[in-house]
This record gives sequence, C-alpha cells and structure tokens, in this order.
Amino acid sequence: MKSEICKKNYDLLMQRQINELKGKPKILLHSCCGPCSSTCIERLRQYFDVSVFYYNPNIYPKQEFFKRLENQKVVLEYFKDVNLKYLEYNENEFLSCVNGLELEREGGERCKKCFYLRLKKTAEYAKQNGYDFFGTTLTVSSHKDEQAVNAIGEEISRQLNIPFLYSDFKKHDGYKRSIELSKQLNLYRQNYCGCRFSLRRDFEVR
Ligand code: SF4
Repeated sequence: MKSEICKKNYDLLMQRQINELKGKPKILLHSCCGPCSSTCIERLRQYFDVSVFYYNPNIYPKQEFFKRLENQKVVLEYFKDVNLKYLEYNENEFLSCVNGLELEREGGERCKKCFYLRLKKTAEYAKQNGYDFFGTTLTVSSHKDEQAVNAIGEEISRQLNIPFLYSDFKKHDGYKRSIELSKQLNLYRQNYCGCRFSLRRDFEVR
C-alpha cells in the first residue's frame, strides 16, 4: 500500500513538460520495437520533431534484432516525418552489463540495468547530436515498471544534463492503440521481451 502511495504519475508529469514547450523541440526517442513505438510516435509527433533511436543490444538472437528493426522501418514508412537512427547489433554490450544477474526474474535488477544501458546510450547520442530531449517507448508495456524506467531516465538526465521526457504511455489506452496500429500495419508482435534470459525455452534447457 505504501509503495502505491509513493508512485508518481509520469503521464501527468509528461503533460506538464509538454505544456511548457516552446516551438517543436527535437526528441530522440529510444524504441524497443515497432509495435510499442507506434502509439508513442503518434502521440508525440504533435509536440516534437521526433527521431527514433533503435538501440537494443539486449535482443537475442541476432535474427530477432533485425526482424524487429525491419518492423520498426515499417512503422516509420507510415509516420513519414520521423527519422530512424540505429546502432549495430552487439549483444556483448548487454551481456557484460548484466553479468551476474542472468537468473533474475523479469522485472528485477537485470531489467533495471538493461533500461539503464539503453537509456544512457540514447541520452549520449542525443546530447552529441543536438537533440533537446531524450525519451523511451518502454513505458507502453504493462510488463515494464514505469516507475523504474522514469527514475532511471531522470538519473541519466541529471548526469548528462539533457532533459528526459517522462512518460507512462500505457495511459490513455496506449497499449490498446499499439495493438490497433500493429493490426493496421500488419506488424510482427514478439511474444517475449527480448534477451536470451527472457526466452522461456532458454531456461528449460539449463
Ligand atoms: S527481460 Fe527484457 S528488460 Fe529485462 S533484461 Fe531481458 S530484455 Fe531487458
């Protein structure tokens, strides 16, 4: 009950940030996959000049990384005013980051490290390339703890001195809208989070 009381309303905090915008700032939006990004882009492009950053060294196997990347491109063919930036696949970046946390449950400490890795790289890229904000699509999924994602984004924002856009994209039927857009665009929807440890069969052979 106590943790419920302490939860922040990140959707409201995002709305406040949007209300204070001047013009249409540039945001680098980290994207985990095409389906999740669809609803976030649809919402943010009214207020921001959006570029999508597909940086996901957590994804396993390599073919899955490229399958999700191709799907991301389909989404951006639909939202033609949105650019795509991506970094080459290197699973070792993820494996060294979560070393020792392989057996953590999904949603635990391994995932926080995974969020940190991806958001830190997004913020660095955004800072080096003149973006006004960075953000992420990760909060659209009910499997992701938006409190953890936003707290990590806030911490990185302080470290690198670049604004982070808060979010809770599940709100306003965000997840439902991602399903509608996925059907409309005929997107592949994966049935596991992404890393080798989130693949159930990976555990079964241990
Ligand atoms: S389960 Fe998902 S969020 Fe957690 S470490 Fe694996 S890919 Fe990252």
